Amino acid sequence: MARKKKGLLLVVSGPAGVGKGTVNAALMAKHPEIRMSVSATTRAPRPGEIDGVHYFFKTKDEFDRMIEENAFLEYMHVFGMNYYGTPKAFVEAEREKGNHVILEIDVQGAMKVKAACPDAVMVFIAPPSLKILKERLVGRGTETQESIDVRTKTALDELKMLPNYDYMVVNDVVDEAVAEMESILTAELCRTGRNTEPISKLTGGETI
Ligand code: 5GP
Repeated sequence: MARKKKGLLLVVSGPAGVGKGTVNAALMAKHPEIRMSVSATTRAPRPGEIDGVHYFFKTKDEFDRMIEENAFLEYMHVFGMNYYGTPKAFVEAEREKGNHVILEIDVQGAMKVKAACPDAVMVFIAPPSLKILKERLVGRGTETQESIDVRTKTALDELKMLPNYDYMVVNDVVDEAVAEMESILTAELCRTGRNTEPISKLTGGETI
C-alpha cells in the first residue's frame, strides 16, 4: 500500500572507527528517500571540505544569531572552542516531504535530540568488541598511539550510553548492518503511533 506520511528522524551514533559513515552511505545508496543532515559549525574548513556539503561554515556572530532565532534542533560547544549544531529547517522540510533524515551525531547531541523530538529513532552502531574497534583504529594507519588510546577510552564512555538508544546495530559485516538498519526503518513505519490516519480511516465508520 502506498503511504505518504512524515519521514522518520534517525539519530545514529557510535564510537569513532565503528563504520557509521560507511553503513549510512551504503544505506543511502539503496534508499534515495533518506537524507543526511548537514551541521553548522564555527570551526574553519579543513582542506577539501566544502561549505554546504561537509558543514555549513559560520562565523561566531552568524551562529549566535541562529541560536537566537531558535534555528537549531540541538547545538553544542565542542572542545572549548567551536560550536556545532543541527539546523532545524532542513530536518523539518525533508520530513514533511516524507523523506527520512539521518543525524550522525555524538551521544551528547543525540540525547538532546531525543529530549526535543520524542519520535526520533535512536540507533547506536556498536563494534563486535572493543578489541576489534581498537584493531580497526590501528588499521586506519592515521592515528597515533595516544589518539588510539584516547579514542578507545572515549568509545567505552559512549558504549555506556547504549541503553538510552532504541536499537543496537553491530557493525561486523557492513551489508548485514545495512539490512538491520532497513529492518528498523520498516518496523518504525509500521508503528501504530505513526499510522493514526489510516487507523482512524479504518475505524471511523467508513461505509463497508
Ligand atoms: P569535527 O570538527 O572533527 O568535524 O567534529 C568534531 C565533533 O563535533 C565530532 O565529535 C562531531 O560528532 C561533533 N559534531 C559535528 N556536528 C555536530 C552537530 O551538529 N551537533 C553536535 N552536538 N555535535 C556535532
